[in-house]
Amino acid sequence: MSEGHAAVVGTGPNGLAAAVTLARAGLAVVLFEAAPEIGGGLRGEALFDSRIVHDVCSAVHPMATASPFFREFDLAARGVGLAHPEIGYAHPLDGGRAALAYRSLDATCARLGADGPAWRRTFEPLLHHSESLTSLFLSDLRRPPRSPVGALEFGLRALRGPRFRGEEASALFTGVAAHAVGEISGLVGNAIALMLGHLAHGSGWPLPVGGSAAIARALADDITAHGGEFRLGHRVADLAELSGFPVVLFDTGAREFLSVGRRRLPSRYAEALSRFRYAPGAAKADFLVSEPIPWADPEVGRAGTVHLGGTRASMIREERMATRGKLGDEPFVLVVDPGVVDPSRIVDGKRPVWAYAHVPNGDDTPPVDLVRARIERYAPGFSDTVLEARGISAAAYETYNPNYVGGDIGAGAMDLKQIVARPALRWDPYTTPLRGVYLCSASTPPGPGVHGMSGYLAAASALRRHFNLRPPSLAPD
Ligand SMILES: Cc1cc2nc3c(=O)[nH]c(=O)nc-3n(C[C@H](O)[C@H](O)[C@H](O)COP(=O)(O)OP(=O)(O)OC[C@H]3O[C@@H](n4cnc5c(N)ncnc54)[C@H](O)[C@@H]3O)c2cc1C
Repeated sequence: MSEGHAAVVGTGPNGLAAAVTLARAGLAVVLFEAAPEIGGGLRGEALFDSRIVHDVCSAVHPMATASPFFREFDLAARGVGLAHPEIGYAHPLDGGRAALAYRSLDATCARLGADGPAWRRTFEPLLHHSESLTSLFLSDLRRPPRSPVGALEFGLRALRGPRFRGEEASALFTGVAAHAVGEISGLVGNAIALMLGHLAHGSGWPLPVGGSAAIARALADDITAHGGEFRLGHRVADLAELSGFPVVLFDTGAREFLSVGRRRLPSRYAEALSRFRYAPGAAKADFLVSEPIPWADPEVGRAGTVHLGGTRASMIREERMATRGKLGDEPFVLVVDPGVVDPSRIVDGKRPVWAYAHVPNGDDTPPVDLVRARIERYAPGFSDTVLEARGISAAAYETYNPNYVGGDIGAGAMDLKQIVARPALRWDPYTTPLRGVYLCSASTPPGPGVHGMSGYLAAASALRRHFNLRPPSLAPD
């Protein structure tokens, strides 16, 4: 094996982003993937009808639109259509009410009534600094912000938390905070709500036309075009298998990396990895339905993403219970009907519906009935439209992808400590104590989501340390 070789283990968005960066820098890259197909959290599958693809993991992509990696890689120029809903996310409440986050900040504030001015004060200043804030949020969090004023404004808002009087605005904000999973009422939940929330009024919360796998295909095409090779159905079980590669990047979670490296990792680092904590899990339900979801408020049917969690108090309570290992009666559920923005997903009137619930880590409750009941509460008659359904419990998600320990789709809890020490405290979080061995998954900063930044930053670190190279251009050739 020549010096210019590198291996990437795992082909999720971060593994693919790492491989794009390394291959474009001139390295001969080989990617190993345990699953029979590429993509990790970007995979799709025709579950019930060979013409209708369901997103198995991610479906909506605020970060793939805003991240510095994808901005330069330019999905649109590579033929990936990004369909933007007019309403980024909606939050139905009992009694047929619903709070709506339009792409337009004005329309959102108008609909929120008395809380409209507070919503504007919360998000408008962030929109002025959106690019630098996104770059900071999606970084290794070890460099000073490009816009200190924007960062200060963001930090103060995150510390202060939401200041809404009405149930609608509070629930709308907290539904986004719930993407933090777990303890959502503090600084981390607020920060995630501010970051994702302001993107809904800026670069948007789009869905890739045809499904998320289109993003993985675009990345894989670029890797192949630059000489990269894929070895599918190959789960790397021991570091020794890759001894011929001078550089190896692991798009695996902390626990899987501990297992693969168990014979070589120094005990202090191994102990730090074994202490890495996991968040509540996701239990997924996929439906094939005969009609659009009959939301009590039809406006909800124009939203790309729907959050079902009831009031702010209810979401905080349910998330706390899930963190403590108890499945509540009203778990937080996210719902996406891709046909709302992408007619190509609807065939003969049949359409996929994607949904998942936040449940305790490792929970093995079959999720279909639970999720169906949550949707039915805000969309009476939904059950009558269901033609087929399939569930994956939180416990089963780990079998599907070892990065999702106990169904934790974030590959590690996002609390203050684990945002910085992710997965262990190191100045360069992508390095490990083993020379030439790097981690690049969502178990490293900036954490979960399809943004490619962990992969890109880990590859940049490997290029600099091992080859004395700067990151290459990612723009389409
Ligand atoms: C149900 C669900 C819904 C989600 N929704 C969204 C969403 O709408 N928007 C969003 O931005 N994010 C979403 N996410 C999160 C997002 O998918 C992940 O944060 C993202 O995929 C993480 O990327 P990654 O490259 O770090 O790891 P992954 O995408 O998890 O990929 C890791 C890959 O490594 C492979 N692997 C692991 N161990 C080995 C090994 N030993 N040998 C070989 N291969 C190995 C796995 O098979 C997998 O393919 C969702 C996730 C799930 C599960």
